[in-house]
Amino acid sequence: MSAKRDYYEILGVPKNVTVDVIKKSYRTLALKYHPDRVAPDKKKEAEEQFKEISEAYAVLSDTQKRALYDQYGHSGIDQRYTSEDIFKGADFGSIFENAGFESMFGDVFSDLGFDIFGGGGRTAGRRRSERGRDIQIEVDITFLEAARGVTKQIKYPRYEACSLCKGTGAKPGSKKTTCSQCKGQGQVIVSGGFFRMAQTCPQCRGEGTLVTAFCPDCNGQGKVKKIHKLEVKVPPGVDTGSQLRIRGEGEAGKASKGDLYIILNVFADSKFERSGNDIVCEVNISMAKATLGGEVEVSTLDGSVMMKIPVGTQPDKVFRLRQKGIPDLHGYGIGDQLVKVKIEIPVYLTVEQRKLIEDFAKLSGERLDENSGSFTEKIKKVFK
Ligand SMILES: [Zn+2]
Ligand SMILES: [Zn+2]
Repeated sequence: MSAKRDYYEILGVPKNVTVDVIKKSYRTLALKYHPDRVAPDKKKEAEEQFKEISEAYAVLSDTQKRALYDQYGHSGIDQRYTSEDIFKGADFGSIFENAGFESMFGDVFSDLGFDIFGGGGRTAGRRRSERGRDIQIEVDITFLEAARGVTKQIKYPRYEACSLCKGTGAKPGSKKTTCSQCKGQGQVIVSGGFFRMAQTCPQCRGEGTLVTAFCPDCNGQGKVKKIHKLEVKVPPGVDTGSQLRIRGEGEAGKASKGDLYIILNVFADSKFERSGNDIVCEVNISMAKATLGGEVEVSTLDGSVMMKIPVGTQPDKVFRLRQKGIPDLHGYGIGDQLVKVKIEIPVYLTVEQRKLIEDFAKLSGERLDENSGSFTEKIKKVFK
């Protein structure tokens, strides 16, 4: 055998990744190089690639084989499995004719909703995994709901066990027959292409029996799509992208249900912006108030408060209202509210107002037609 490429390299993943990542990468590559999806002149090349990635996936998705491969490399796999001739020179054509291939790789694709292998035996209990699939949905909440927490009524579609056939896919009262392919064993020895091993029987999906009549409600699927309603508690402190995991609210499986993952999307607020657990807002005060001091009303998440403006407050000065921000999602205290002060310069003045400001300038030693020097410097001159 010529020098073989590293399986991780073939799948383009680092060595320490989870099976999920491996699966995802395989899925992407398998779809790219699937011989049925490439131009005829690229077919030969694609077949080689497909063979290579499938082999890499077969090893790396199997905990035991992966461990051997990690420790001993290709020789670990070859030694251990030579008797089964898993990776002997493959006759590619036979791989797709071989039902075992579908049962091995079909679930990867059906996870995505693809059925690239075109059906296969229609049998009861098409779900192969014991645990139901996870579902991911996005939920929109307001800024205030994110900050203070909220209980949301949500609705989402999911597959549930068919109530008519209790998930078996068989028409109630109909008989079952022993599967002819595995003789009721639920497993068959697959010896096509580059591997040869015991696989779940593709005809009965490991059930050992076949239904003779399909359930009319679910068409033999054993599951039906339903809109599921759920009340979800969103804790205070979440932000856009926060993920809530609700155990057992995913799709039905043979043994247990999958989980529901809620990805939150927080709407922008007209008054507040978020900065970590702090919230940021702006407040306008008059020139007179900035100069002489006073109080200003500031909106907080819990209603309005009066905030003190000290004498001589400068433009864009930021005041901190302690613990008026957002509680930390993991319980590490509460953020603050940062209030940035904007000073309003009058746009229109009455004759009298104008006179007073001119007088003020004069008293400050300022000549208004002059184009240099700051107000502060003028003041300093006056008080010298
Ligand atoms: Zn049914
Ligand atoms: Zn069977």
